Amino acid sequence: MDKVIFLDRDGTINEEVHYLHRPEDLKILPGVPQAIRLWRQAGYKIIVITNQAGVARGYYTCQDVENLHRHMNRMLEKEGARIDAFYYCPHHPEYGIGIYKKVCRCRKPGVGMFEMAERDFAVDKARSYMIGDKALDIQAGKNYGVYSILVGTGYGAGLRAEAVEKGEQPFYDFYAETLVDAAEFILKREREL
Ligand SMILES: [Mg+2]
Ligand SMILES: [Zn+2]
Repeated sequence: MDKVIFLDRDGTINEEVHYLHRPEDLKILPGVPQAIRLWRQAGYKIIVITNQAGVARGYYTCQDVENLHRHMNRMLEKEGARIDAFYYCPHHPEYGIGIYKKVCRCRKPGVGMFEMAERDFAVDKARSYMIGDKALDIQAGKNYGVYSILVGTGYGAGLRAEAVEKGEQPFYDFYAETLVDAAEFILKREREL
């Protein structure tokens, strides 16, 4: 069985750029290669699942998304890190154009991208995680049935501050300031499980 770290992309791995699609705009966040190295050394598969409504809206193409993902892996490989697989949702239920206007299963918080991953990996849900910077990432992880971590990069810190201010119960299982913190937490939790 595969223990898997499911990662959101924008705001979690790379700097949030509105409708990122050009390789030259890709900036990997500090510590991300290190976090991925820690997980890989511990035997985790690293899988990105990302909503790419920019395709639906006609701002860029599936080819652009795939090129960007290849570029991301080239950058990570220079630092000894690597993503095992990328799955993306190119749809949007309202703003999509043509075939991309669709109520789909894959758009997070739907579980369709996890199901795509299950065709390629033997996901051990009890030992897998979903990490992202938005509530929909956490909700997707919950819908699928894996442990969820909100990361403080991207929109994460702001979301957490809002929830704390309103005195709400955390909607995530754990909050990590950075992806390295998340990696250290998971490795520690694994030893204790
Ligand atoms: Mg994000
Ligand atoms: Zn979709």
